[in-house]
Amino acid sequence: MEVILMAVKSVYFFGNGKAEGDAKMKDLLGGKGANLAEMTNLGIPVPPGFTVSTDVCAAFYAGGRKYPAGLDKEVLAALQRLEKSIGKKLGDPDDPLLVSVRSGAPISMPGMMDTILNLGMNDKSVRGLAAKTANPRFAWDAYRRFIQMYGDVVMEVPHEDFEEALASMKKAKGVQLDTELSAEDLEKLVETYKKIVREDAKVDFPQKPLDQLWGAVNAVFGSWMNEKAIKYRQINEIKNIKGTAVNIQAMVFGNFGDDSGTGVCFSRDPSTGENEFYGEYLMNAQGEDVVAGIRTPEKIATLAKKNKVVYDQLIGIKNRLEKHFRDMQDIEFTVQQGKLYILQTRNGMRTGASAVKCAVDMVAEKLITKEQAILRVTPANLDQLLHPMIEPAAQKAAKALTKGLNASPGAACGKIIFTANEAEAWHAKGEKVLLVRRETSPEDIGGMAVAQGILTSTGGMTSHAAVVARGMGTPCIAGAKDVIIQGKTMTIGPKTYKEGDWVTIDGSTGEVFDGQLPLKTPEISKDMNTFLKWCDDIRATSKRGNIKGFEVWTNADQPEDAKRAFQFGAQGIGLCRTEHMFFDKEKLPYFRAMIVANTTEKRKEALKKILPLQQKDFFGIFKAMEGRPVVIRLLDPPLHEFVPHTDAETSELADQLKIPVTALKAKVESLKEFNPMLGHRGCRLAITYPEIYDMQVEAIALAAVECVKQKIPVHPEIMIPLIITTKELKVLRANAEAVLKRVFAAAGMKVPIIIGTMIEVPRAAIRATDIVQYADFFSFGTNDLTQMTFGFSRDDAGSFLPSYIEQEVLEVDPFRSVDEEGVGFLIEVATNGGRLVKPNLPVGICGEHGGDPSSIEFCYKAGLSYVSCSPFRVPLARLAGAQAVLKGLEKPTKPAAKKPAAKKPAAKKAAAKKAADKAKKPAAKKAVAKKATAKKAADKKPAKKAVAKKAVAKKAVAKKAAAKKPAVKKVAAKKAVAKKAAAKKPAAKKK
Ligand code: ADP
Ligand code: MG
Ligand code: MG
Repeated sequence: MEVILMAVKSVYFFGNGKAEGDAKMKDLLGGKGANLAEMTNLGIPVPPGFTVSTDVCAAFYAGGRKYPAGLDKEVLAALQRLEKSIGKKLGDPDDPLLVSVRSGAPISMPGMMDTILNLGMNDKSVRGLAAKTANPRFAWDAYRRFIQMYGDVVMEVPHEDFEEALASMKKAKGVQLDTELSAEDLEKLVETYKKIVREDAKVDFPQKPLDQLWGAVNAVFGSWMNEKAIKYRQINEIKNIKGTAVNIQAMVFGNFGDDSGTGVCFSRDPSTGENEFYGEYLMNAQGEDVVAGIRTPEKIATLAKKNKVVYDQLIGIKNRLEKHFRDMQDIEFTVQQGKLYILQTRNGMRTGASAVKCAVDMVAEKLITKEQAILRVTPANLDQLLHPMIEPAAQKAAKALTKGLNASPGAACGKIIFTANEAEAWHAKGEKVLLVRRETSPEDIGGMAVAQGILTSTGGMTSHAAVVARGMGTPCIAGAKDVIIQGKTMTIGPKTYKEGDWVTIDGSTGEVFDGQLPLKTPEISKDMNTFLKWCDDIRATSKRGNIKGFEVWTNADQPEDAKRAFQFGAQGIGLCRTEHMFFDKEKLPYFRAMIVANTTEKRKEALKKILPLQQKDFFGIFKAMEGRPVVIRLLDPPLHEFVPHTDAETSELADQLKIPVTALKAKVESLKEFNPMLGHRGCRLAITYPEIYDMQVEAIALAAVECVKQKIPVHPEIMIPLIITTKELKVLRANAEAVLKRVFAAAGMKVPIIIGTMIEVPRAAIRATDIVQYADFFSFGTNDLTQMTFGFSRDDAGSFLPSYIEQEVLEVDPFRSVDEEGVGFLIEVATNGGRLVKPNLPVGICGEHGGDPSSIEFCYKAGLSYVSCSPFRVPLARLAGAQAVLKGLEKPTKPAAKKPAAKKPAAKKAAAKKAADKAKKPAAKKAVAKKATAKKAADKKPAKKAVAKKAVAKKAVAKKAAAKKPAVKKVAAKKAVAKKAAAKKPAAKKK
């Protein structure tokens, strides 16, 4: 039946300087296969082989684990071609060709899937190989490795069984390393291994090379769906790839003897980004030996002494590869009897620091443009750079218990836990955990993701723990050999620690410390500054209609926070909450007195006491911001949040107010609400008690006057929260203006202070065209807007939201990323509505979403003037904003994307016209229809799915996992492109 001609090509050959594939074919050939092909075409020494495409993997799973018809023939033909090019036959008894069978998905998933080396070895070919190479030790070593890998991966024999056999052989021989075992020892070991296989798998170890080959191919395709690979894809939000490819490649041998070896290297330092050749290797070793952590690998620089020719050649190749791919490369190589082979290259995973340094340096070297540099660093990369370090003084004073390798920078402090599962369990209970292990393996990924830090006693800089931790941005020390782990205890010198004991590690120095040391956040480096300035420039020069620039502001209510945010590059304060100021010891008593006052007089009396204190607070913030805009939100939360909650506090307050405790209790009781979130809060407080806002406005005005007197530049803005109707704002604005007028008249000067409103209730968004009459600016309070749009109580959503995310009823947690279809729609309606009346209306966002990269991108597309986020997120927002601008500049490449774009203008115009005709009647309905059509046309399934998985992954692994691997950028970028058409802002820009 396989007579039917193969319509599609499934197998791609590479070898002898020519390949059927190339680097652009990652989706089809996987990253490894595509780059092996590319390197072959470049004339770099790559052992020949062929790649079975990811389409086959997809077909394999679609067809119930069956291969498409004709695949066997195609594979056989490619194998024959390979045999011909090498001049040997697979598993030939006299002179065997051996191959590796390697997995390789379009996005790198290091160590998650299977690879088998030395395939083609059997009882006969081992002797042929021994005779042919005159190196029996090598031949038996290759065979025992093959049985071990194949037995484990294909036949599912527990790998510990092999390791035990190897360990007892070494013990019997009184040697430490497997390189010290002789040919005879290894031959005996092979017998033992075969026995293990027979006993465990109940079949003999397969001897026929083709059986071996298909067994291995099945296993590699099978590994696409193994548990750890699935989990890795979830954690890293990898979606929409077809599957893994399988690479079958002629073996080269690093275990041939002392003139042979294998290693891993990076064209630049993946931790720091320094342009220094970086890597590790082991002589007389094969495959994963370097990362396995059994022998301690040597630094790459020492290779220059061992074999200058090979070393220089390697330097030449890494330079070439870096230039070619225009990015830092992570390269696998093997030296066989003094001849160098390259086995893999890919863009190297890196820390945030390294990402920034590489990007900045590569721009200087003219390898990439500034724009490329900006798109290459992820917001998570920057977030990582703001991770804590140990307070320098405390670090100096403390004596390190021991020192290991500084595998991933940053300091971490946590309770030590010895298994990944327990780390996850403790984390779930809210504990900060530090994962301590001899070494980590891909199975540990979940525990690693939730750990504050990771400490291993074995392994090098490219060990699993080191690589994964760097990618996650988790501090890590590897190879701390003085750390002795036994069961659930860890001994370092005289000290023994048990599960749950506190330890601090410094992943930047490799030092391990006893107990909890204070951690501190680092300053922004010079490179980061340069980089972020580029981001600022890109945002500043962006233009959407008549909205120029896209700023990053911050949410801060303390002068220190404001200062930090300002150092981090904040261009203003988008939300200065005033309620936090009242929790201050000095103010709280007066504030409480004000709350429980029964008369306006009493209330005013208390407010009078607060006025100078509040004025001082504002003055401090104005001063810290040096003339940048400071948006002050008038009192927002329900009053009962401030009243005493314990009996002791209640009687203290009663004493102070000279009223009976019972009376106070009754008053407090009366302030209780069934739904405080929907109760007496926000501007409603000022409708009932105008004197509260009057006091706050007076304090703002007085602080501003004080600044002017002291020649401090000042730019206050007043923001009224929770507005629902035009009338509300009209009244409250008039009140505020009256106070301002009075203060300025008395001071004999005038400070310009604009008055705007928050849009955080759907009704306000819908009535924006009307409300804007009394607003000088809008700011979206997306926490409340999300709460009220969904009808999800922010305080109670925890009990059901996780199920929504898990079952994918909701794609993302709407409190984390703006729900573009609902909340985002209201944002667009309000922004466009406001600007219909006031075309230059400044519009910002001050909810938590202001620091979320995907929400920032949405805000840009929706036409917002700025985002405001917490100080620590300012740097990443500067970047995410610039990326949004750059992505917005990308031309739609796919013809399909044109459709909705073409459709839109007409619809848009119609809606805009309607709205303009009747400025009072909001364009909401029309806009709904328009948006729906546009959305339908533009909605692409892939985008949706990517989002869905994101949510699951986020759930599965806490915060930390949000640190994205560089590789994931691709998915995110795709998602962005797919969505672009959907979320174009129908701004009223061209009136
Ligand atoms: P992973 O994706 O886990 O890195 P690889 O397929 O890259 O798996 O292979 C694992 C190890 O085996 C690597 O060190 C690689 O260099 C080595 N290796 C793979 N194929 C060959 C080969 N044909 N000859 C020699 N070493 C190989
Ligand atoms: Mg590899
Ligand atoms: Mg609010």
